[in-house]
Amino acid sequence: MSGSYDGFRVLLSLCVALLASYTALTLASRIAAASSAVAQRVWLLLGAVVMGVGIWSMHFVGMLALSLPIATGYDIGITLVSLLAAIAASGMALHTSTRQHFTWRSLLAGGALMGAGIVTMHYLGMEAMGMSPAIQYSPGLLLLSILIAGLASVAALWIANALRVENLRHLIKKRLAASAVMAVAIAGMHYTGMAAATFLPGAVCTASGAGSLHSAWLSLLVGGATLALLAVTLVISALEGRYAASNRNLTGSLDKLNIMLLRMATIDTLTDLPNRHSLIKAAEQAIQSARQHGRLCAILFMDLDGFKSINDTLGHSVGDGMLRAFAQRLRGCVRQSDLVARMGGDEFVVVLDGLLEAEDAARIARNINTAMHADLQANGTALKVTPSIGIALYPRDADTVDGLIGNADIAMYESKQAGGNTFRFYDVAMGQKAQRTTLLQRGLQEAITRGHFVLYFQPKFDGRSRRLTGAEALIRWRHPSLGLIPPAEFIPVAERSGQIIEIGNWVLARVCDYLVEWDAQGKSPLKMAINLSPLQLRWPGVVQKMQAIVAAAGIAPARIMLEITESVAMQDAELTARVIREYHDAGFQIAIDDFGTGYSSLAYLQQFRVEQLKIDRFFTNGLDVSGEEGRAIVSAIVALAHSLNMEVVAEGVETVTQLDALRLLDCDQVQGFLLEHPMAAEAFAQFLANQDASDAPPPSQGMMPPLDADAIPEPA
Ligand code: C2E
Ligand code: CA
Ligand code: CA
Repeated sequence: MSGSYDGFRVLLSLCVALLASYTALTLASRIAAASSAVAQRVWLLLGAVVMGVGIWSMHFVGMLALSLPIATGYDIGITLVSLLAAIAASGMALHTSTRQHFTWRSLLAGGALMGAGIVTMHYLGMEAMGMSPAIQYSPGLLLLSILIAGLASVAALWIANALRVENLRHLIKKRLAASAVMAVAIAGMHYTGMAAATFLPGAVCTASGAGSLHSAWLSLLVGGATLALLAVTLVISALEGRYAASNRNLTGSLDKLNIMLLRMATIDTLTDLPNRHSLIKAAEQAIQSARQHGRLCAILFMDLDGFKSINDTLGHSVGDGMLRAFAQRLRGCVRQSDLVARMGGDEFVVVLDGLLEAEDAARIARNINTAMHADLQANGTALKVTPSIGIALYPRDADTVDGLIGNADIAMYESKQAGGNTFRFYDVAMGQKAQRTTLLQRGLQEAITRGHFVLYFQPKFDGRSRRLTGAEALIRWRHPSLGLIPPAEFIPVAERSGQIIEIGNWVLARVCDYLVEWDAQGKSPLKMAINLSPLQLRWPGVVQKMQAIVAAAGIAPARIMLEITESVAMQDAELTARVIREYHDAGFQIAIDDFGTGYSSLAYLQQFRVEQLKIDRFFTNGLDVSGEEGRAIVSAIVALAHSLNMEVVAEGVETVTQLDALRLLDCDQVQGFLLEHPMAAEAFAQFLANQDASDAPPPSQGMMPPLDADAIPEPA
């Protein structure tokens, strides 16, 4: 008995095979991409059912495409078992193909199982017809159908695994091609299996009666329903895929954000150099490798000379441009492997490792200084920007990153002091100096609140009569453990911290107290000079504050002479002129201190109209050392001052020859160790009493011994 095939149904079975394959591949991707183990299991189960139904339905429609000259039907029980076999085989296949670790063994084992499942389904389906006498199979074709089932399964698994990554390029095209191969294989197995079957003449189908499925329209129903099921599954899966993809996009942008954040945390955005954070890490590594290889590692700490004024005068965009240009040139001065970082502001650090000797670091520092001689370009501005460099070496100067950076910073400060665009190696003396500065910084507030400051007084005398003309108040810090600290050491520290304002007010108030006290004791009214620091000139309200202090004490402001250093006065001459005017309006007198060192302009000196010019110690000393020339200079200063109606005071008079020369040169007042050292309040009160008693000129030969321990013995 031979049957004939209905072309439409064959085509339908091929369509089902194709769609089932395509769905299976899509589901394989879905399973592989599932975000959780539960989702993975749900997709696997759904996939197994849909794919199993698909394969089974392909087979079923294929069977129904064959019309035999007898009534045919299918046993419901066996048909259902064959469906289960298809589902199990599909589950097997999906499970194998979506595994991350996909080996040849798992491929072959999975393929064999899946093939067995399909074969089982097919031949069970044939059994469901219940042909009597039974269908006969040609062994060759039967074997071939089993072989095709196995090979098709292996191929399907392999393809599914290869295509399981969802973001492949041209994924849909690749999937379609692969599905076609799979569909042909599945259908090939089915039709080979059918070809192997021989329905014996006179055979009857025992499953065609009641309780069995009838074939007429069934094939269309099953085929259509299956196609619909597969299509719905595909749509769901595609939607899920798009959702997952957008999730992946989100994850991707989060990753990008993280990279940006990481960059911001480690890179200085202005110069694109590593920042402080990265520097510390790199320096730690450099130290470690230097330790391992017995080499040196150097930290070059640099600060740009006068950068603040570039920013102030040319604006921040030029300033930023200069920093970028500097960074770029600096990078070019060192080896590719050396780290160049920006610490912030105008501070840069270079880490050099694997050095053999200190000279290696010196050579690179020298290179940097030389390279910075040429102008840098920023926003159309050409400018020379030079660094002051400090160098600290591991292991010589410190063995921690903080220690090395700190010491290199200290050495950098020394380069600054030396005039900039140079380098200095750290040494222990620098460290001690810096340590002391730190100590002073910390102790200063306590000194202010606990009143650890004392005033010393150095008299000033008339240059001709040698009579007392007044005194200068000089502050000292009586430190509980460090002893008496000279102002030159702590005034700059207080200046930097701003505490000088408070200290300055204290000095004035204390001076007023003493004047009140000495007045009350009936001593001749004394004029007192006090020193003003640069910050006091700029600080708003200082004049009013000082006015209030003297008023509260009942002291006439005209008894107070404020000394402003010439170099400070000339730094911002306009401002100085304005402040001096305010002080004058308040009734104070003004002196220009350390005159001769600050490159005054005559125009400003005229404008200031101060009462006194104090010739710097250097020129007083020059009267001895430089002979004629020295005298000519002092003579010129005296003439200038007198022409501007100012008195001249010579500071630092230490020898009789100086004193004599000053008298000949018509200097108005003299002050110095030769005449009197600065003295503490009690000693000074005694000195005043003696003055009043004798009303005689003081000794002129330095015969009087120093009155206090503060005496600075060596001449300048
Ligand atoms: P200065 O205003 O030039 O004060 C004169 C300095 O020269 C004083 O040092 C004084 O002791 C010293 N001196 C006086 N005669 C001679 C001499 O014949 N030979 C030598 N070699 N030195 C002499 P001192 O007291 O250590 O003060 C140093 C500086 O500290 C002062 O220089 C002044 O600029 C500053 N200073 C002192 N007291 C104060 C203060 O209360 N406030 C502020 N802002 N600065 C102060
Ligand atoms: Ca002074
Ligand atoms: Ca002075």
